[in-house]
Amino acid sequence: MDNKALFKIGYGLYILSAKEGEKDNACVINTVTQVTSDPCQITLAVNKMNRTCEMIERTGLFNVSILSEKAPFDLFKHFGYQSGKTVDKFAGRSDPRSANGLIYLDQFTNAYLSGNVTKTIDLGTHLLFLADLTDAAVLSPDETVTYDYYQKKIKPAPTATTQKKGWRCRICGYVYEGEELPPDFICPICKHGAVDFEKIE
Ligand code: FE
Repeated sequence: MDNKALFKIGYGLYILSAKEGEKDNACVINTVTQVTSDPCQITLAVNKMNRTCEMIERTGLFNVSILSEKAPFDLFKHFGYQSGKTVDKFAGRSDPRSANGLIYLDQFTNAYLSGNVTKTIDLGTHLLFLADLTDAAVLSPDETVTYDYYQKKIKPAPTATTQKKGWRCRICGYVYEGEELPPDFICPICKHGAVDFEKIE
């Protein structure tokens, strides 16, 4: 079996935001899909290690901001490579709020969706949320960024000076130094598992 076939699936990249009490948080996901149109329902899978996942599990509300090709690497780093458990990702920012009171991003995005969770399925590492679409708006005519575009055009290419031996996370570029990558290894930066690492040749 060639797991690289999975990379051929077309994924977008999204900022998933939630609010619990006075606390806002958000993370980056690639798993948003519209599954029915009447009524309009969407699904998303979120890693349980994300604070945002716990907040949605408790509140049942989220916003999905759809990132455009203009999104810079720093935005992915800010929302994807650090945890809301240790950092307030919205400190010093002044992002707008939609009708449900949750933050969405109006920069480097082309639309946002608001969802109300109707079913949660435990997938082990992730929770799968099924949700009704409660609000949506188009924000710009920019193209939606795909995971492939992120890999090829946004994520910095490893340079000779940062070249190390070992295994590189395909998601964030973190390098595990060592000959063998433990099968249960989890990227300390983006929390993806060993399957998302490639050997540095
Ligand atoms: Fe990573």
